[in-house]
Amino acid sequence: MKQSINTVAITGGTHGNELTGAHLVKHWLSHADEVKRDSFSTELHLTNPKANQSIRRYIDQDLNRQFSLKDLKDSKLKGVEQLRAKSLNELLGPKENPRVDFIIDMHTTTANMGMSLIFNSSDPLVVGMAFYVKQKMPHATLFFNPAERLEDNFLTSMGRLNGFLIEVGPIAQGLLNYQVYSDTHAAVMHGLDYLESRNMGQSISLPNQMVGFQFIKKVPLPQNENGEITAMIHPNLQDKDYHAIEPGDPLFITMAGETIAYQGESTVYGAFINEAAYYDQNIGFSFMEKINIVLKDNDH
Ligand SMILES: [Zn+2]
Repeated sequence: MKQSINTVAITGGTHGNELTGAHLVKHWLSHADEVKRDSFSTELHLTNPKANQSIRRYIDQDLNRQFSLKDLKDSKLKGVEQLRAKSLNELLGPKENPRVDFIIDMHTTTANMGMSLIFNSSDPLVVGMAFYVKQKMPHATLFFNPAERLEDNFLTSMGRLNGFLIEVGPIAQGLLNYQVYSDTHAAVMHGLDYLESRNMGQSISLPNQMVGFQFIKKVPLPQNENGEITAMIHPNLQDKDYHAIEPGDPLFITMAGETIAYQGESTVYGAFINEAAYYDQNIGFSFMEKINIVLKDNDH
């Protein structure tokens, strides 16, 4: 007997300068029929309204790094987003035994990542949603970022199942773009349809495995001893998210025009290449590994 989903939360504006998700939440608040399904209730939440009003990613801290159980329980953490995370823990959680079953959190990126479906759990229901949305939207990319739910600091980990982050780009911070908006809208609709079909016990035909990418690590921009950036993303790497990076391939180019090459010994792939939001930590991009993602207990 499969566990059913009773409550789904759709969240947007977790990063205040990513307007797509915030505007979709506002749109659905006045067009609730679009997100209504018969077998579960759907909630809509603007998760960081203060940052959203200021069109800033965050006021004090990145909200989407505040949801580990340890940090939620740390009463010394009192920044705007740290307090907001505690409020969201009351609203959606508590984290140890959440009221909400599943969270779909909507984000955008300045990197050329197209539609990325980011999920942190190998639970068949979560992986099944990723596979289902990719079947409906074949241009989507599966981005697996495994994390233990209670330690996970993403908002999506506040659901009973470690839920689902939709990341669409490229789009500049603080902008709306209809293609990005409508693509995100469509992905959420498919996600809700998938949960509805599962709840209703309908047969959903999904493959046993699909190709995707697993996060390895973030790669810092080269810096001098004062922590100042000394190089930028190499033009050969710019916009090449999810393309192979072979040993010796250029990663960065210095202000003087010298190329810095990849020194590793295995093929890797890039993601979040030149993401504007990561300049506050001097992060250049992420290394990813191409993997086969397996759907466990696939009964169709
Ligand atoms: Zn974001």
